[in-house]
Amino acid sequence: MQTLIRSVLALQNGTLQSVDVLLVDQHIRTVAPAGTIPVAPHQQVIPGEDRLLLPGFVNGHTHSSQVWQRGLIPQLPLELWLANVFDSTPRQLDQFYWGAVSTALDTLLSGGTGLIDHAYVIPGQELETVDALVRGYKAVGIRAVIAPLIQDLPFASGLPKGCLLPQSASPRSAADLLALMEAIIAEFHDPNNGIYIGVGPTGFHRCSDELLAGCGEISDRLNLCYHTHLLETRAQQRLAQERYGISAVQHLQNLGCLTPRTSLAHGVWISEADIALLASVGSTLVHNPVSNLRLGSGLAPVLKCLQAGLNVAIGCDGAASNDAQNMLEAIKLGTILHTVTDSDYENWLTPEQAVQMAAVGGAKAANLGDRTGTLTPGMDADLVLYNLDHPSMLPRTNPLQLLVLGRPTDVVEAAWVRGRQLVDQGQVLTVDTAAMHHHLRYQAFTAKASQVQHHPVEAHYRDVMLNR
Ligand SMILES: [Zn+2]
Repeated sequence: MQTLIRSVLALQNGTLQSVDVLLVDQHIRTVAPAGTIPVAPHQQVIPGEDRLLLPGFVNGHTHSSQVWQRGLIPQLPLELWLANVFDSTPRQLDQFYWGAVSTALDTLLSGGTGLIDHAYVIPGQELETVDALVRGYKAVGIRAVIAPLIQDLPFASGLPKGCLLPQSASPRSAADLLALMEAIIAEFHDPNNGIYIGVGPTGFHRCSDELLAGCGEISDRLNLCYHTHLLETRAQQRLAQERYGISAVQHLQNLGCLTPRTSLAHGVWISEADIALLASVGSTLVHNPVSNLRLGSGLAPVLKCLQAGLNVAIGCDGAASNDAQNMLEAIKLGTILHTVTDSDYENWLTPEQAVQMAAVGGAKAANLGDRTGTLTPGMDADLVLYNLDHPSMLPRTNPLQLLVLGRPTDVVEAAWVRGRQLVDQGQVLTVDTAAMHHHLRYQAFTAKASQVQHHPVEAHYRDVMLNR
């Protein structure tokens, strides 16, 4: 199968140039100046005039089942928000299937070709849940890293002075969870079909050292993405000091968890020493600007990270803390948010840097930097074609700046993942979107009925975080 995209604008060495791009099977075969690749018989030819071609973004952090909770959870800080999320989490396998489909479609139609799903899995039905997610992602055809959320400490232990709270039943032991991960990997890790299992301990705040280090050992042995939450809130920073007496980043390093395969969601409260350490080991910080504002978590020090040479990716985070899954929205906010942290405008992020973070940075976060993230011969064809004739992309000024800083709507005209075209004329070719909308419409009522505003940990949270 060959596809020739002719005379399309693409970023080449930092500038937009008109090029021809030849895709052969799964790969990008050639990128050459416009009009120089001859058309061959049996090629699909796509005219690229008035179009922009970019490598697909990778949504560096999401929780797909939270599609069912978008628009549901009130505006609360993470720790109280989380209590509400647990109470209204979906419990039916078909909800996980449709959650994966919905997340994949929203990602594709906002410029993404891959995602990291830090996936909630139903206790006691972990393999069945992962199976539903895999089926959803394979039905769409998107590239997906599924890192099941696992933890072996009770909910209350994730709060500062959490030992003062009544303790819920302990989750499964670290040994049990590591054995479960081995089983999930053996059954579902399927790189040849674009499905990857990652190890995803929830975060240091809910995981024992044994579990955190055990995940590191699996990641090392099987070359898997290690994905975890890190210092999302001030409460977590306080908890790290309380529990370890040193920075959580240093603690993860001491346990052997930080490698180039490690991606850490949020890092809002990392220090300059943490940034230097993360950069030196080659790990990735996944910036989730919408979620961080939605939950009042703070501003991640993204400019300092980039200046230190730390790889940064962009994520939407789950729809319960974003209320959407739009990569272009996350990229815009993640680009302009940081001007307020540095008055030296020469340090501000450019649209090119933003695209770089979302594509190359995201690919590296997913441990897929050798496969995707750039428009380079030999890489997999994970590409997105944007329609520059759409009214939201006019006038014809700088298309890249308009894509990143403007308010583009319905501009994804075509998308390919591993050389397979998944979107054409703005329509997803692989799944029945009307069926998905039917399921979302039908199930929403049940979710609404379970809405909770207040939670037993609220008094403790106010006492520990606000009253001192
Ligand atoms: Zn998250």
